[in-house]
Amino acid sequence: MQLYSTKNRSKFISLKEAVFKGLPEDNGLYMPMSFPKLPNDFIQNLKNHSFQEIAFEVSKALIQGYIPDNDLKKIIKNSITFPAPVVKLDIESYILELFHGPSLAFKDFGARFMSQLMSYFNQGNEEELVILVATSGDTGGAVASGFYKTEGIKVVILYPSGKVSDLQEKQLTTLGHNITALEVNGTFDDCQKLVKKAFLDPELSHNIRLSSANSINIARLIPQSFYYFESYKQVQTGNDKIVFSIPSGNFGNLTAGLFAKKMGLPIHHFIAATNVNDIVPEYLRTRTYTPRPSIQTLSNAMDVGNPSNFSRILDLDCSTGNIFDKNMSGYSFTDSETKEGMKEVYSKYSYELDPHGAVGYLALKSYQSKNTNTKGVILETAHPSKFIKDVENILQKNINIPERLAVLKAKKKKSIPIETEFNPFKQWLLSNY
Ligand SMILES: *Cc1c(COP(=O)(O)O)cnc(C)c1O
Repeated sequence: MQLYSTKNRSKFISLKEAVFKGLPEDNGLYMPMSFPKLPNDFIQNLKNHSFQEIAFEVSKALIQGYIPDNDLKKIIKNSITFPAPVVKLDIESYILELFHGPSLAFKDFGARFMSQLMSYFNQGNEEELVILVATSGDTGGAVASGFYKTEGIKVVILYPSGKVSDLQEKQLTTLGHNITALEVNGTFDDCQKLVKKAFLDPELSHNIRLSSANSINIARLIPQSFYYFESYKQVQTGNDKIVFSIPSGNFGNLTAGLFAKKMGLPIHHFIAATNVNDIVPEYLRTRTYTPRPSIQTLSNAMDVGNPSNFSRILDLDCSTGNIFDKNMSGYSFTDSETKEGMKEVYSKYSYELDPHGAVGYLALKSYQSKNTNTKGVILETAHPSKFIKDVENILQKNINIPERLAVLKAKKKKSIPIETEFNPFKQWLLSNY
């Protein structure tokens, strides 16, 4: 598998290099050089394959023999360890539950696959690898759990102080061992800026083997394409037009869906669902891209003012043509609309959506009001108990906390407070790694 930077289509690097570097020097993003189409026969017969088998076939096609089959099977076996079930709301709307992993959010898929891939590629390397990751909430928990006790790899997580939920914070700050949490006195965008700057700093990259674990890393996106196939398998009957509604922040999930489509999955339409941080829906309406500071909302994992994967989507649009015109719509919703959406789904279907999934639900309803005869799959990106205070308030009922999250309550938070200036952060890294 070879990849290029979105800023330079004529230079190629290997998957191993792209996974460790995370970000090219030219500030673009890595993209696969090609998306081999899966055999029609395979797509038609997804029902005969388990989730792990689908994951293996999809990654094998994408990776193109770069990792021997047996090793790739092991990577899949160790990362796809929980299901991605689809729940039917009604004949035209379905929920794809992506929260059955250890941190209760879809990011477990990416984080686990990436940690497996990195430790595979890291075999035989003496020098310690330091993973830097900025999180607006859910990335950190997934990465912390995915990399916990991975040999030869240390993880530094930057999160915005006071802007993640208590349990999200516990997921980042209680594991210890090879996981360190930096509590940044700023926003998620500040955290992301610090990380991006660190990668471009020559002194840091000279002294520390740095790598990223954000959705900018291609290793995160690969496994996120698996569950588009897996849910398609569960929903499809006959010639349905299947559309996906994707609650989006940095647009990694949506990008992974485009990968699946490029590999031959006949997805009819993509719905970009956002909160009031509506940079992409606005782009789809006006064809102007105006990044701006993020606004805090109920669906805080989508509070992103400059979606990092947007350049990948632009790149796919250039190479494929017309994704934006034909295959994608965008909708954005306020917090009060989100609350109404959660209440509606609970009263109509007795289903407890989290605020992110509710944004996806509302976007699907908006799209389907004009596009009938489609089957919509909403990505439910996190379990409602991750946002328990808000969800209980809105739905006026108790929400069950799965055991794997409940045990964190009693654990003690351990974080290191830092400011948003780059230099002190850089010095901290240099003296600690
Ligand atoms: C990360 C996250 C999102 C946004 O996903 P992107 O791939 O960055 O668009 C949505 N919902 C939840 C719960 C998340 O954790």
